[in-house]
Amino acid sequence: MNMSLQPNNIALRLTLIYLFFSVMWIFGSDQLVHSLFTDAANLKQFQTLKGVFFVIISSVIIFLLINHQIQRKNKIIQLLNRGEKWNNKMISSLPDIDVYLFDRKLRYILANGGAMHKHGLSSEMYIGRRVSDLTLNIETGQYLERFYKKIIAGYDVSDILSYENHTYQLKGSPIRNDEQQIIAGLCVAIDVTKEEAYKEELTKAKELAEHNDRLKSAFLANMSHEVRTPLNSIVGFSGLLSKENLSQENKERYVAYIASSSKRLITVINDILDISKIETHQMALSATKFYVKELMKEWEENATTMLIEADKEKAIVLAIESDLMDHDEVIELDRERLFQILINFTSNAIKFTEKGFITLKCFRRENAICFSVRDSGIGIDKGQQAFIFERFRQVEESSNRRFGGSGLGLTITKGIAELMGGTISMDSNLGQGSEFIVSFPIHTET
Ligand code: ADP
Repeated sequence: MNMSLQPNNIALRLTLIYLFFSVMWIFGSDQLVHSLFTDAANLKQFQTLKGVFFVIISSVIIFLLINHQIQRKNKIIQLLNRGEKWNNKMISSLPDIDVYLFDRKLRYILANGGAMHKHGLSSEMYIGRRVSDLTLNIETGQYLERFYKKIIAGYDVSDILSYENHTYQLKGSPIRNDEQQIIAGLCVAIDVTKEEAYKEELTKAKELAEHNDRLKSAFLANMSHEVRTPLNSIVGFSGLLSKENLSQENKERYVAYIASSSKRLITVINDILDISKIETHQMALSATKFYVKELMKEWEENATTMLIEADKEKAIVLAIESDLMDHDEVIELDRERLFQILINFTSNAIKFTEKGFITLKCFRRENAICFSVRDSGIGIDKGQQAFIFERFRQVEESSNRRFGGSGLGLTITKGIAELMGGTISMDSNLGQGSEFIVSFPIHTET
């Protein structure tokens, strides 16, 4: 049923009824009056009364018709107003979405939505104004003007806009009349800040996963080299040992090779075990009280042996410095794990230094006790310094690595130091040497 036909039907019906009664009145009333009033004076008077009655009836009917129409119109206007109010309410409560309607001169006809409130903007600030009159920053104002002009030129457009730490997806289309002429433009702005941040996080996570995957592949290649080399050496020299008529000198040489390869293998295996213990939070510590000077002595002896075993060609002077050497200073830490840290620093210093010095140091700094290893070796590029404490990271990640090693040493060292409540820091300059320091906040007893 078409509701819009209803008022016309009523009007038509009323008009027809009115016509019918009017015709009846014109013809019927005259005859009735003539039959009732024979006296001419009375007749004339009654004719006048009849005219008046007719005019009154007509006026009442016209009044009723017009009144009915006005009331209907008012009702429609009321409903439209209420609808518009609801529309506005509905748009303004759309979370994260704004709707903008503007005429050909880029003057806002409608501007509403949940997103604009986040920036302290309201519909009143827009309506009747041009985009260039708004108090947005100049860059955004100019950008929107260009965007709206494209819409008014007849294009469907879409873009991303950043405004006050929010990211908006803009979508715009022209609005046309029945003759297909563009009469206005519509732009919808959707706040996609969270989605963009989520996308960024996902991209970062993906990059990190790929990066970790690359590192793991490099680590595995590296590891297989680190495991295979000593293992081959052990198998090879064990085979040679079983040969008859072997000179005593060769026998001793082969045994020494087997011993050093076994040591290297054990180091690699220990590294793997340590890193998995740290990562699964299963590394247990046992703190004991010990004299610092005893630890320093043992450290020096080990460093000297390591240096001798490392390479006869290296021209390195090993020195030991300690503010605490002469005191009977006692500290309480996991001695074995602390020693592991110091040995790792020392073996790196020996590995990456060809000539010059290596200094082992122990000193007090504020409320901390510090142990450091300084060398005059190859040093580390500033850009690489942040990475070397990450798992499997080495400055030299190519397959033709000169120095060997798993790339786990510093990660383990840092993990252990942090478990013990300490911190590791470093200072290095490429080509000039490095210093690695581990420090523990500690109460000492003398
Ligand atoms: P590894 O020594 O087994 O490769 P580490 O985690 O101990 O693994 O060290 C990571 C990297 O940090 C080394 O490969 C090296 O590039 C760099 N590095 C560590 N100590 C030193 C040092 N004293 N001098 C120069 N580079 C160092």
